Amino acid sequence: MRIAQETAAALGIEARLIDAAEAERLAPHFKPGAARRILHVPSDGWVDPARVAIGFATRAGELGARLLPFTAVQGLLSEGGRATGVTTPRGPIHAPVVVDAAGGWTARVAAGAGIALPLIPVRHQLFITEAIPGVEPLQPIVRLVEASVYVRYEQGGLMFGGYEDAPRVLGREGLPAGFQIAALELDLGVLRGLVDEVAAHFPALRDAKIVVHRGGAPTMTPDGRPILGRVPGLDGLFVASGCCVGGLSLSPAAGRALADLIVDGKSDPDLAPISVERFSAAPRDPAALEAACVAQYARRYTH
Ligand SMILES: Cc1cc2nc3c(=O)[nH]c(=O)nc-3n(C[C@H](O)[C@H](O)[C@H](O)COP(=O)(O)OP(=O)(O)OC[C@H]3O[C@@H](n4cnc5c(N)ncnc54)[C@H](O)[C@@H]3O)c2cc1C
Repeated sequence: MRIAQETAAALGIEARLIDAAEAERLAPHFKPGAARRILHVPSDGWVDPARVAIGFATRAGELGARLLPFTAVQGLLSEGGRATGVTTPRGPIHAPVVVDAAGGWTARVAAGAGIALPLIPVRHQLFITEAIPGVEPLQPIVRLVEASVYVRYEQGGLMFGGYEDAPRVLGREGLPAGFQIAALELDLGVLRGLVDEVAAHFPALRDAKIVVHRGGAPTMTPDGRPILGRVPGLDGLFVASGCCVGGLSLSPAAGRALADLIVDGKSDPDLAPISVERFSAAPRDPAALEAACVAQYARRYTH
């Protein structure tokens, strides 16, 4: 938490320690108990994830990008050590630049060109309760660091999600081609276990009916940081992945920085520290990669 506070200060983001009474006033469904430190970031907020993706796509289309939804990349095309496009069921698409941003499938797409990317999709889940009196949209998101859970308003009730110790790994080589997230097997028991740990802080979660339970396959990296930038070994190939369950928040800055790198050859901030090259000396043993990625996911807020 001290690091979070220092980072916020360095970035000019207001973040101040508050006492339990103020925390409960701001988020009445939260009972801080004997919390040692409570950091409040007034500008923190949330967005509808689906609308973020649709918003980016719509704007890209308005700016002239050609969108081909439901068109799977089947392979990468290359010539003389340079990416030259992709193959799809609709035929090849030739392009001087290819960005592998295939989420849980990123490693599988790159593997088609013989490139190993160190990231692994794991299951992450949340649930939303029925409406709860007193829970309001503008109340802060509450994150409990030790338990690594988050709680916020959603659809009149509370959204609850968290990072268990041993998440389900969804494939060391990435998600299978054609896998639909809707087919992901969920396990409410994982979330119920986390609720049990923090129920004293969120009494409303004990009995509220769960109306939505969903999950997805965010990608984790061995150091818990995203992978963004050039892919060594194939000029013109870039990667934007390994978002470690933070891809929505990162997306505006990540998209801008990667676009600048592609168009201008450089970006501000410099993406070198989060390029895949940082792993060039790391062992590529699949079991070790999986263990490192799982360790980054487990109780994520404590890292
Ligand atoms: C339950 C849950 C809660 C989350 N909460 C947050 C949060 O609060 N804040 C936050 O910042 N992040 C959150 N995340 C993480 C966030 O959703 C991801 O980091 C983000 O979606 C990653 O974006 P992406 O574009 O890299 O991958 P994705 O969103 O997975 O998109 C990848 C796309 O590539 C497509 N694709 C795959 N293979 C191919 C192929 N061969 N050809 C063509 N297309 C292909 C897929 O169909 C998909 O549309 C959450 C995730 C989950 C599951």
